[in-house]
Amino acid sequence: MLLFAAAIAVALLTDFPVRAATQPVELVPGIYQFLTPDVAGNVVGNSIAVVMDRDVLMFDATLLPGTASGVIHELQELTPKPVHYIVNSHWHPDHAGGNAGFVAAFPEVEIIASKETRRLMEDTSGVYIKTLEFEIAQANREIGKQLKSGRSADGKQLSPKDREELHAQISGEARFLAEFRATPVKLPTLTFNKSLTLYHGGREFHFITLPGHTVGDVALYLPQEKVLLTGDLLAYPVPFCADSHPSDWIASLEVLAALDASTIVPGHGPAQRDKAYLTLLLESLQSIRQQVQQALHQGLTLKETQKVVNLDAIRLKFTHDDPDLNASFEGNFTPVVRQMYNEATEGLEEYQ
Ligand SMILES: [Zn+2]
Ligand SMILES: [Zn+2]
Repeated sequence: MLLFAAAIAVALLTDFPVRAATQPVELVPGIYQFLTPDVAGNVVGNSIAVVMDRDVLMFDATLLPGTASGVIHELQELTPKPVHYIVNSHWHPDHAGGNAGFVAAFPEVEIIASKETRRLMEDTSGVYIKTLEFEIAQANREIGKQLKSGRSADGKQLSPKDREELHAQISGEARFLAEFRATPVKLPTLTFNKSLTLYHGGREFHFITLPGHTVGDVALYLPQEKVLLTGDLLAYPVPFCADSHPSDWIASLEVLAALDASTIVPGHGPAQRDKAYLTLLLESLQSIRQQVQQALHQGLTLKETQKVVNLDAIRLKFTHDDPDLNASFEGNFTPVVRQMYNEATEGLEEYQ
């Protein structure tokens, strides 16, 4: 399968160029945020360029070589300087999948990440595609049902335009999967355990390993510019807890909250100019942990705990009751209750 994938790689690597859609935003002089729209329903992480004397550091590489080439194209409109460093905030492909695009454009590039992130990228590269295939097959089955019955999920009659969109969704996902499969994994070339300080091109970079969203998250702090790049330790407008380790996450957010930062860029969504969103997430996690601990002290099972922990007030603060955001909160953040329960009981729920 890999050989076949390599053969079609050349044709597919620019299948998802996002040149027109990726708009850089200058956050402070010489530091730009690139927001890339979804690709066939798949979210793409923020990418941040820090321009230096002679070259550029890029924090996060986006999802695919195609999206990376979109960012590179936009960057070249801003500066002729080459990218010398890429940072992978964590192993998730929406942040590290575009490494191959940067390596193709800048073969000498150094890829910086934590040791754990490099390990996770090595260990998951073969199996992650299976997860994607499963999710896409499931989505396609649902679309197939709708096309066959002529009705959408909420029972409405499909118009010819609806049908066209559903077919486009299926082919978009197929193209995405093919490009993802064809993308070579480019592993970090410079790793560290706890922290790393880089003095380069007139700037000072503090890399700090702060696990929580995954076991290998790295945040980047630029003390002179008071800029903090968090990766998915912070995701806007709704937090994302898929692989999270809640105790570490709380401790890491406490470290971030103590830094003197006036521009905070989350892994997804626009830059924040104050700490309100960071504090909201930190206080929400602390309050949920308190509720889970209370439930544990009453001897409740996981199922009982999930029933009594009340997330309504917290949900409203993130979603303002917007139906789409409510659904995203339900899918992406409520599993943190289970994660906290598991973490506190070392997996006892398997026997309940
Ligand atoms: Zn992400
Ligand atoms: Zn992530």
